[in-house]
Amino acid sequence: MNQRGADALIQAGLRGDKQVEGAFVRDGGACAVGTMMLALGFGGMFGIADLDDAVYALASEYEIDLLKPVTCPECHQSVGSELCRIAHMNDKHHWDFITIARKLGPQ
Ligand SMILES: [Zn+2]
Repeated sequence: MNQRGADALIQAGLRGDKQVEGAFVRDGGACAVGTMMLALGFGGMFGIADLDDAVYALASEYEIDLLKPVTCPECHQSVGSELCRIAHMNDKHHWDFITIARKLGPQ
């Protein structure tokens, strides 16, 4: 994740955006991955429109790797790609937007 991706999460955290788990967008909130998709303009009436396009936009705009396997810094399990790890920290470890940005963003 590059600085622009981290900034999208930090801005959501500073605004007090509602954070949800288990869905990109739900109940007026979004998970960390959904928040970054919304920041790139992929919001739709029913959630994220054009999900495939949104995923590839995250990869190209925020330099989020979709392929290379990574492990979780908390439970040390293999969690799939960097994109999956962001969702994992959001859903399983309940990291807030700013924690995800600070710990998974550029060091
Ligand atoms: Zn974990």
